[in-house]
Amino acid sequence: MSRDEHNISRRDISENALKVLYRLNKSGYDAYLVGGGVRDILLGEHPKDFDIATNATPEQIKKLFRNCRLIGRRFRLAHIVFGRDIIEVATFRGHHANQDKAEKRGGKQHHSKQSEHGMLLRDNIYGSIEEDAERRDFTINALYYSTRDFKVYDFANGLEDIERRKIRLIGDPETRYREDPVRMLRAIRFATKLDMDIAKDTAKPIRELAPLMANIPAARMFEEYMKLFLSGKALANFQLLADFQLLEYLYPHISKTYADNPIDKSIDFVRQVLINTDKRINDGKRVTPAFLLAAVLWYEIEQQSQQLQKKSGMPPQDAFFVAMNQVLSEQQRSIAIPKRFQLPMKDIFALQHRLTRREGSRAFKTLEHPRFRAGYDFLLYRGMVEGGELEELANWWTSFQDASPDTKQQMIKSFKTSRKRRRSPRKRSQSAAKE
Ligand code: ATP
Ligand code: MG
Repeated sequence: MSRDEHNISRRDISENALKVLYRLNKSGYDAYLVGGGVRDILLGEHPKDFDIATNATPEQIKKLFRNCRLIGRRFRLAHIVFGRDIIEVATFRGHHANQDKAEKRGGKQHHSKQSEHGMLLRDNIYGSIEEDAERRDFTINALYYSTRDFKVYDFANGLEDIERRKIRLIGDPETRYREDPVRMLRAIRFATKLDMDIAKDTAKPIRELAPLMANIPAARMFEEYMKLFLSGKALANFQLLADFQLLEYLYPHISKTYADNPIDKSIDFVRQVLINTDKRINDGKRVTPAFLLAAVLWYEIEQQSQQLQKKSGMPPQDAFFVAMNQVLSEQQRSIAIPKRFQLPMKDIFALQHRLTRREGSRAFKTLEHPRFRAGYDFLLYRGMVEGGELEELANWWTSFQDASPDTKQQMIKSFKTSRKRRRSPRKRSQSAAKE
């Protein structure tokens, strides 16, 4: 597609990406903008990052750029670093058949490797741009834009699928999912992100091949979790993942509940948090991956904690911490949650108990807790789905935070007296509620 037939202009492309493209071209290499960068501009959206494909090898790229880091094992890539902006430059990938030939010729290079499930463990065979296009996942992701001739190159009918709004895998879907099961998650992510349909043939094998997700390292699943749930389409992705039976590979606990009883309060709770996560992102507010993960685990922790108390007579506090650690470690098998997010999750959990204690100086101390805001927000959502005393508690904190110092003192005093007065009937109603 030539310059006058498409809407991509250099103004849509970041300066840093252009710098990299120009320098590669100047040094005699082919270089193209590819993937989301081209796709999103064609769709009239703003790409969130720019990926470049070239026939220069990673070593050749490194020689051209002082600010270049080579990364990755499964896929060797060059990162050109401009402060916080990183431009990813990948060398054209070739077919694996080329590797067999190379090995037959006595070559000893192990540039590509497959697992027993047909999963690609390494994919570092270089090739032509046509081959590179075939190695990409979806047709709409295999469009290349050149800053030499300003043309868009389409090797997989991606332009037609952009027009028809279809997410379609390149090649045989089953083989492509076996090579990399994460493509199942990507199909869903692009469908919701771009508001497109997954083509029939591309959707068909997913339910059957879903169990292949179990082979994906938990660290990579964390990255996918971030992209699926912190990009403004969390609720839509949650629903579609459940429809395609992929939810259990991300959230083993909640997916079981969802299958048995989709209107359970724990699902309602997660749904509220998903809706709010999307809203915050679309309003340009900050979100932490810890909050949603905490929400996904909360009711499982409560349940396991209660079981522990019943079965082994463990005191509530101890049972809670044992259950929390147990549920967290079960979750880690699916998604490796980095320590820096585990700590805030634990704080949110612990705060749920601290927020129930308000006597003396406790409420003031809790207000000073560095994670008070997250703990309080969490309580608000629990109150929303559970109502009753929990909702009252959340409302109390809503008023307390903004009250004047005098009112604050009064709130604690009146809380104390009302608590004393109401103590016994309340206790009774609490245990009745539990039963
Ligand atoms: P976005 O960055 O908006 O999430 P993207 O399409 O740019 O979308 P990236 O993950 O940045 O996605 O990948 C860049 C490109 O690399 C993709 O467009 C696709 O061509 C290719 N690619 C990425 N992951 C895979 C994969 N698992 N299998 C095949 N090709 C892939
Ligand atoms: Mg990208």
